[in-house]
Amino acid sequence: PFDVLVVGGGPAGATAAIYAARKGIRTGVVSERFGGQVLDTMGIENFASVPYTEGPKFAAELENHVRQYEVDIMNTQNAAKLTAAEVEGGLVEVELASGARLLSRSVILSTGARWRAMNVPGENEYRNKGVTYCPHCDGPLFKGKRVAVIGGGNSGVEAAIDLAGIVEHVTLVEFDSQLRADDVLQRKLRSLPNVDILLSTLSTEVLGDGTKVTGLAYTDRTDDSAHTVDLDGVFVQIGLLPNTEWLEGTVELSPRGEIVVDEHGRTSVPGVFAAGDCTTAPYKQIIVAAGSGATAALGAFDHLIRTSTP
Ligand code: FAD
Repeated sequence: PFDVLVVGGGPAGATAAIYAARKGIRTGVVSERFGGQVLDTMGIENFASVPYTEGPKFAAELENHVRQYEVDIMNTQNAAKLTAAEVEGGLVEVELASGARLLSRSVILSTGARWRAMNVPGENEYRNKGVTYCPHCDGPLFKGKRVAVIGGGNSGVEAAIDLAGIVEHVTLVEFDSQLRADDVLQRKLRSLPNVDILLSTLSTEVLGDGTKVTGLAYTDRTDDSAHTVDLDGVFVQIGLLPNTEWLEGTVELSPRGEIVVDEHGRTSVPGVFAAGDCTTAPYKQIIVAAGSGATAALGAFDHLIRTSTP
């Protein structure tokens, strides 16, 4: 069996594996796609000490770094079921979709998350060519330009407020007849001179010239009329879905499906830790995920030295 089995090979899981392996304990990483969301990222400019890199390069370097150590890397494998240890300090089982069963004295869940998409024409075609899901990452690319933010919940309204300070103009698009964000955010948003709010509005298509975004088509749901607005960027903020469906019923999840963790990365199941975008920890960023991976690995190590295999 492993001492530490990491499920997920994104920035959180890779960092956890490095920290665990450096303790000289038996470490494994199971992941569907090593690198995680970073593989879908173009430029990365906010990882301290790396002024600029690209997602696939960053992902390859993550894997290289893990391979410096004796870590059993099991790529293109999907975890399908987690079973808690029967007794304190016992072995936790992770069953893969292939049917294989892995046993470990501790497990670190770092399965990340995926952005909910609008699923309209043009969205995929112009992904990273104006369509983006991360205001903290890509906001500065639209300095002095016009953008839309899709979604009037807390993340959409926060993004619109954030972007209004960088870009020339923000159009916030909400499907419902009212915004769902906290009042204090709504008041702040409405006080900004360069923001328009479109309520009862359905985005129907991302428009482009073949190489980049040029506008957004939408329907006014109050009278079914069709409109377009010219802009350079579309920030989609309609939800981040944690990859935790397979954990329902075993590990405590928040109402949003995020794994509930404490400040040591512990979950509700003894010996099972979690890190990164799949957890309740706020701010879904590479550097934050990596930091929480280190925390979870050290938390797991702490668990190992305090328990002995029964
Ligand atoms: P992820 O990166 O999501 O990795 C999850 C891992 O788990 C993957 O290996 C996946 O294959 C695996 N996995 C999932 N389910 C299973 C399963 N059941 N079994 C086995 N393996 C599984 N952040 C920044 O800081 N700067 C940026 O510039 C930036 N740009 C971004 C651009 C885009 C387009 C996107 C989508 C995100 C961007 N982010 C950026 C956010 C950043 O990528 C995430 O915060 C970070 O990758 C989270 O790391 P993670 O390890 O928690 O999860």
